Amino acid sequence: MTRALISFLALLCLLVAPSRTQAAEPLDLTIHMHFREKYTWREDWPVAKELTRLTGIRLRSVASTAAASSREAFNLMLVAGALPDIVAGDGLKAQFIRYGLEGAFIPLDTLIDEHAPHLRAYLAANPDVRRAITGPDGHVYFIPYLPDGTFARGWFIRHDWLEKLGLAVPTTVDELYEVLKAFRDRDPNGNGRRDEVPFFARESSELGRLFTLWDARSSGSEANHDFFLDAGIVHHPYAEPNYRIAIRNVAKWYSEGLIDREIFTRGARAREVMLGNNLGGMTHDWFASTAGYNAVFADRVPGLKFLAMPPPASVSGRRIEENRRARVRADGWAISHTNTHAIETIKLFDFYFSPEGRRLANFGVEGVHYTMIGGAPRFKPEILAAKKAVNTQMWEIGAQIPIGFPQDYAYEAQWTDPAAQSGIDMYARGAYLIDDFPGVNLDAAERRRVDRKWPQIVAVMLEYQQAWILGARNVDVDWDSYRAGLTRLGLDDVLATMQKAYTRQYKAAPDAATKDAPP
Ligand code: CA
Repeated sequence: MTRALISFLALLCLLVAPSRTQAAEPLDLTIHMHFREKYTWREDWPVAKELTRLTGIRLRSVASTAAASSREAFNLMLVAGALPDIVAGDGLKAQFIRYGLEGAFIPLDTLIDEHAPHLRAYLAANPDVRRAITGPDGHVYFIPYLPDGTFARGWFIRHDWLEKLGLAVPTTVDELYEVLKAFRDRDPNGNGRRDEVPFFARESSELGRLFTLWDARSSGSEANHDFFLDAGIVHHPYAEPNYRIAIRNVAKWYSEGLIDREIFTRGARAREVMLGNNLGGMTHDWFASTAGYNAVFADRVPGLKFLAMPPPASVSGRRIEENRRARVRADGWAISHTNTHAIETIKLFDFYFSPEGRRLANFGVEGVHYTMIGGAPRFKPEILAAKKAVNTQMWEIGAQIPIGFPQDYAYEAQWTDPAAQSGIDMYARGAYLIDDFPGVNLDAAERRRVDRKWPQIVAVMLEYQQAWILGARNVDVDWDSYRAGLTRLGLDDVLATMQKAYTRQYKAAPDAATKDAPP
């Protein structure tokens, strides 16, 4: 059956479906939602019950709780054949669009225009969001989770060590080099041993942030090793001339003991180990969680002051922070072609963009988890004071889950450490953040071409990157053959494909979105 026919039949279903008005019995819709590898939609969530009370719709979970991963659960659902009414979860954007193009999910554009006033208004006010979720055929197949708050990670340094050594916060890459050497040589932790680890990171991808100090990049988006945009042209960080210079210098810093010797293997607990044992001097990581270690280790490391610092100026004098929160996540939900209540479903999706629905998705149930104070939701004191983090508490009641809704940063601001907030404010004042690569939605042929070449290219890039930094290989010896190897593996073709998709998605006039854009 052609997609056009499926769309027509789906539309026919919409037209004959009775409209719901205050039915006594809720309308049951099935949902497949498997997320963060182990969670499923739960009908007994307080938020799910409140949703039914407010909208008259009850979502029945059909996701297997036995699946080993969310991706496996999604694939099992597909092969089982009978699609549920709604499919939701994290990291599904490419699947929503791929299977939407094949007819499994219905295009939402007309439904939104006719039945979803809040969504329509949101997308009209945020054309970049609409472009980011638009498929290569010009249609929207899913409603995304939209993170709020701009800042993600920043630079943190031991201000107590700087004070002890009589040093100022480094403002340039050269000053940073001197500070890291002082951390290495001048015993700031005062134990008489040269055991300090000047720079550490819990993810080796954060080591790459140092590349920006030589005007190179480590990623163009929230995703690791992503493409980046320069004046509308898609590039890859690890194929650029400045990357060679950055690698040369980071390898030098590594060989001089300024970077954790176990940077590639230290792992998720690097901050606990490096800060709790009073060893680590500097990192690049999330503002909120990193600032929190000052309180965690206040007794164990007296005077610990691990605070944000502005990005040091690069060799050319640029101060940038390349890491920001994605404006649109690959999470969200879509309507299956078998759904006979598409209008009710798009109204449900629309509810989450209304003030009431947005509060439910962000803060939980009014009177239970939050109260309205001066027109704004405020978490109850017992939620803010609980031992469990507020975000964990929210996941457990069915709020802040990866369905299509606009997040509200006020939810997070209420429990963000003041030191983290002042770091974020510092980055906002300095306007260090640069634009990110919003990602592209490939058509089937483009997807096949990129999938065939890209995994091997990025594997080679990372293999060389690690060997160069650890000193097993030399970037200046390897560069020409490395660069030729990337070309041989098809990097130019991948870049051209990404460029074509980017131009189609973001540069074409909106009313020409279904046509090929001019080159
Ligand atoms: Ca020491």
